[in-house]
Amino acid sequence: MPLLAERMSRAKPSAIMVVAEKAKRLKAAGGDIISFSIGVPNFLPGEHVYAAAREALAHDSGQYGSNRGSEALLDAFLKHLEGSGLPGYERKNLVVGVGAKHTLYNLAEALLNPGDEIVFPTPYWTSYVDIADIVGAKTTLLPCPPEQNYKLKPGQLAKALASKPKVFLFNNPSNPTGMVYSKDEIAALADVLVAHPDTWIICDDIYNRLVFDGVGYHNFLHVRPELRERTIVVDSISKTYGMPGWRVGLIAAPEKVAQALVTLNSNHITNLPEVVTAAAVAALSGPQDIPAQKAKEFAGKRDRVLAVLAAIPGVKCPRPQGAFYVFPDISVAFGRKHGSTAIGNDVDLCNALLEAKGVACVPGSAFGEPRALRISYTCPDAQLDEGMKRIKEFFAELI
Ligand code: PLP
Repeated sequence: MPLLAERMSRAKPSAIMVVAEKAKRLKAAGGDIISFSIGVPNFLPGEHVYAAAREALAHDSGQYGSNRGSEALLDAFLKHLEGSGLPGYERKNLVVGVGAKHTLYNLAEALLNPGDEIVFPTPYWTSYVDIADIVGAKTTLLPCPPEQNYKLKPGQLAKALASKPKVFLFNNPSNPTGMVYSKDEIAALADVLVAHPDTWIICDDIYNRLVFDGVGYHNFLHVRPELRERTIVVDSISKTYGMPGWRVGLIAAPEKVAQALVTLNSNHITNLPEVVTAAAVAALSGPQDIPAQKAKEFAGKRDRVLAVLAAIPGVKCPRPQGAFYVFPDISVAFGRKHGSTAIGNDVDLCNALLEAKGVACVPGSAFGEPRALRISYTCPDAQLDEGMKRIKEFFAELI
């Protein structure tokens, strides 16, 4: 029997998907399940997006398209970049992917040789580790525990960059923590980055329009534009426009990086479909009140979740200001029991919570922080409140 490639021994299915699938199975079997597991927006795109898609379908050329992305889509992204304080890019700096996930994978292929070092803060989005593993890179994690609000400190970054890693990957607002860096915090980290010129900087900013409490969206390039020659900004239409299944990711990058991804696209995907492209153009260039409205709505949901968590003795939770996740430290439950089930760690807790209360959360270890669990809170308020009530009951029943 021939063998699979060695790299597949390092590839794992997404831990988030594993929980989501289990919740789905239980629900299909008639269980009263509330899923806080998968990070999906709770809305569909506006009618103008569907109208653009229908129009494109009516005039579909049926032909292969640009490896970089259609000019209309690149121009719409350029406008978005300008509007978010990142002017001066040209089409040659941009390229599309099949969602940000594919774009990040392409970046790993383009920037990392086997054995090269990539550093990023933990908690991290699960796929970062898996993507790095698949391309054979060496991952260095920078621990950012709840005690430091899950945020990276400049001193930590300076220490990590001293070994001249090939890539520093930074996610703001964060999945799984929902934390958002202030302008001052970004400026302090940017100063460190300027002093370490041997490292590429990838900014996964896909939640940049989902920021609350007036903290705003800040990128290193806003404060230190000279970093542009080695910074890649990653964006996506998935979360902001309610379009995760449409699969459109975008980057703004130095020309040679963008060109490398065009080459990868030419060998992997060729192009995004015309209908998808038209829908993405409509989303990016249409009315922007939907993301603004959603950010407001999500801030309200965050408050509902935090209010319940605050009433659970021993559970601690830094206050998120973006995305749609809350990431409480639930380690107070470890070493205790729910009924006859021993809770030794986050995975035990999530399993027991799903089985006893029908609430699906993702164990923090999927994001490199085993003291926590992730609550994705985009579901309707009634469901959110019911799920949180069950979580509170679960903790009250621990012995
Ligand atoms: N980056 C982060 C931080 C995410 O949370 C996700 C999706 O959950 C992605 C990238 C991938 O997004 P996309 O749907 O564009 O592939």
